[in-house]
Amino acid sequence: MKKTSVRELIAATGGVLISGSEDAVFSNIVIDSREANKNSLFVPVVGERNDAHKFLEAVYTAGCKVAISSRKDIFLKPDFNIVLVENTTKALQNLGIYLRSKLSLPLVGITGSVGKTTTREMVALALSDLKVFKTPNNFNSQLGVPVTISRINDEEIGVIELGMSMFGEMERIAKIVKCDCAIVTNIGTAHIENLHTRENIRSEKFHITDGMKSGSVMFLNADNDMLCDPPKKEGIIYKFFSAKGNTDCDYYASDIVFHNALPEFVAHICGKSVKVALNVFGEHQISNALAALAVADHYNLDLESASRHLASFRGFAHRQELLKLKNITVIDDTYNASPDSMKASLSILKDFDAKRKVAVLADMKELGVDEIKLHKEIGEFIVKNLKLDAVFAVGDLAKEITGCLNTFNKSFDNNEELESYLLEYLQEGDVCLLKGSNSMRLFDVVDKIKNYE
Ligand code: ATP
Ligand code: MG
Repeated sequence: MKKTSVRELIAATGGVLISGSEDAVFSNIVIDSREANKNSLFVPVVGERNDAHKFLEAVYTAGCKVAISSRKDIFLKPDFNIVLVENTTKALQNLGIYLRSKLSLPLVGITGSVGKTTTREMVALALSDLKVFKTPNNFNSQLGVPVTISRINDEEIGVIELGMSMFGEMERIAKIVKCDCAIVTNIGTAHIENLHTRENIRSEKFHITDGMKSGSVMFLNADNDMLCDPPKKEGIIYKFFSAKGNTDCDYYASDIVFHNALPEFVAHICGKSVKVALNVFGEHQISNALAALAVADHYNLDLESASRHLASFRGFAHRQELLKLKNITVIDDTYNASPDSMKASLSILKDFDAKRKVAVLADMKELGVDEIKLHKEIGEFIVKNLKLDAVFAVGDLAKEITGCLNTFNKSFDNNEELESYLLEYLQEGDVCLLKGSNSMRLFDVVDKIKNYE
């Protein structure tokens, strides 16, 4: 972010200076008081339970010299430059609009019920022959989007994630981002309690085009029932991608094969074709990759190069992360676990070519009164669907998984016992999946395996 003055802040927010000088400047925006430094503008957010105005003194002590406030009864100092606004969140969004107006780089907007962050990562990689900015962390909200915009520096293109859960939210953030093109990954049921119907979810998400210039392109996942033939808005050009090989689409995949559950395919991009080999699991990743290649082509980038960059995407740490260690393959899915995601992860092993297939499973927490039954069902799922060479369980609940197994299995009381056994047991050529609830800390076991290698 370029240096911005309090004068500009006042103009952007319609606020009034109640302390300090209009000449003061800031070059970063924080909403978390612990991140404030001498260059920060602090925005105290007022939530249902918390009012961050109470941190004004703390940020001042940390060196921060500029803040906005929606209250007058606050900590004041002559050299603490404070602009009074009606609503701090709204003011932050208005500042976001102002900062965007000073940027000339194109911004690619991404929304959808699931897959926004994953697609963001892939688009950023596909564009990486340019200097790319991307939304940090999961800053996709009413507060996160304006903060995201403020973090853009001298990049050539930006990839921005836009999330929403309520009516009106997309409209607000889309008007900040003013996307040059947009992707909708899918329309599912996330946040349906607030939005009532999938049609509403779609029409809210389609507000991503608010602020887009006439002639801008929206890329839609044609394999999604709500996106294959959506209501259209004048001035927007609709382009479609299909991981299911729908050749009527502008972008589609063909010749799909899975090598050790990792997809390889030919991407057809507006008449051109390029081979793609991904290092993340599942058909949905083909969709995300097609969207990424579509955007790369839209900006006239070399597709071979974009495809090579996509191959370097290995997902996120501890979420079905593929680790190719010297001798063994580890699928680190230790971030969390529920019955559905555990079955999905175990199924990856089905398509794996390995000397031995090993599953290390820890307790799935927060399952309520049915917890034992749900763990037993995982055991039944394994018996019915998979040929594994060994199943190792850790934790009192996970022991229930092994009860019905006819494959080699062993239960452990804690990670230390499991670790020492595993390090002896694992051999060259093995694939080993590790999954359990976050509190079971199986990621510590993964670290031990890595270090042992
Ligand atoms: P949030 O709303 O929390 O920001 P998100 O939309 O950014 O979520 P991701 O974090 O990318 O979603 O992915 C969430 C889960 O959905 C992951 O398990 C991921 O593998 C899976 N996923 C990713 N892409 C897709 C897709 N296109 N369709 C369905 N599932 C997907
Ligand atoms: Mg996300």
